Amino acid sequence: MSLSLLKTARNTLQVMIGHVPVGGGLAGTIASPVVVQSMTNTDTADAQATINQVFELWQAGSEVVRITVNSPEAAAQVGNIRRGLDALGCNVPLVGDFHYNGHKLLAAYPDCAESLAKYRINPGNVGKGSKRDEQFAAMIEAAVHYKKAVRIGVNWGSLDQAKMAQMMDDNAQLAEPLSSEALMREALIQSALESAAQAVELGLSPNQIIISCKVSNVQDLVKVYAELATRSDYPLHLGLTEAGMGSKGIVASTAALALLLQQGIGNTIRVSLTPEPNESRTKEVIVAQEILQTMGIRSFTPLVTACPGCGRTTSTYFQELAMQIQSYLRNQMPVWRGLYAGVENMSVAVMGCVVNGPGESKLANIGISLPGTGETPVAPVFVDGEKTVTLKGDNIAQEFQAIVEDYVQT
Ligand code: SF4
Repeated sequence: MSLSLLKTARNTLQVMIGHVPVGGGLAGTIASPVVVQSMTNTDTADAQATINQVFELWQAGSEVVRITVNSPEAAAQVGNIRRGLDALGCNVPLVGDFHYNGHKLLAAYPDCAESLAKYRINPGNVGKGSKRDEQFAAMIEAAVHYKKAVRIGVNWGSLDQAKMAQMMDDNAQLAEPLSSEALMREALIQSALESAAQAVELGLSPNQIIISCKVSNVQDLVKVYAELATRSDYPLHLGLTEAGMGSKGIVASTAALALLLQQGIGNTIRVSLTPEPNESRTKEVIVAQEILQTMGIRSFTPLVTACPGCGRTTSTYFQELAMQIQSYLRNQMPVWRGLYAGVENMSVAVMGCVVNGPGESKLANIGISLPGTGETPVAPVFVDGEKTVTLKGDNIAQEFQAIVEDYVQT
């Protein structure tokens, strides 16, 4: 991978999710790039549907994929899913998402326990009362036995209720009690850190532990992770849970993750978007990549600069060309898999008219300035700042794409 890291990246322990390193900078390790991950929404018991979706997410650039393991039928298929992906040449590590019955499933389905690269354990959903510690221990022992990473994944919506009740009682006794929001944040952090400490006591190496504390509110998420980062050296998985649909989900996730990533906090990210019916799940992967790339943290694919268009463009021709070129670059240049190394920082400008067109085009590696309304129907093309050709006629899009392809190949 050709990657650059923010100078402010926080040093953490390093955890391997299968072959994918997460975090680093402490204990002689080199900091790894922020990892993009996603999650399927197929029924894991349907192995073929899950293989298809994992493969699609991986092709879009997801470097780790989580699948739910919620039933004996699902657990029974995890090994088949792993082998099916391997047969397709897809080595993306799989993470099992366990709630309530993970201790039973990991014990009863060794093929599942072995095939997963990481177990996600939600301390709030492990069990109640005396069963809680016993069932948590059973899952950690499986991780120790199979040498798997664990994410202690606390969630605002499923916080350990016994712990919360105890903390509320203790808080009520304080001269200056915490606000209910601050108390909730502290409960999330304590739940994660205490569970991690418990896992270490049970024999799990600190180098096998990743932590997350997800909430659905941007300001709370930022406060929780900023605090978490000061209180532990574990790599942190970031995500705004239940971010929502459409632009709201994208904006909320971007705001939250950007504020933290800018402080060097976050070693893996997931953008949790609610897809439209029949919308591809890959959108969350693309959004996660674009957050990292637009912040200058990682590069995944050449990005297209395009103007918004205005009254000087009376057709949608240039927007269509910009979308076509972006789609071509994304589909043809999966640089995150080590292909096309060197072009990931390439910039392509598709501009709607002569006002800003030539200027932006000269600044990009390749740029085209399309004719606006009333302009001569020609489109000058600039390569590395020099005007190389002027396109005209009905095939401007195809000819420009050929120029981009030539540039990449040479
Ligand atoms: Fe409008 Fe031209 Fe500016 Fe694009 S470059 S927004 S078409 S003035």
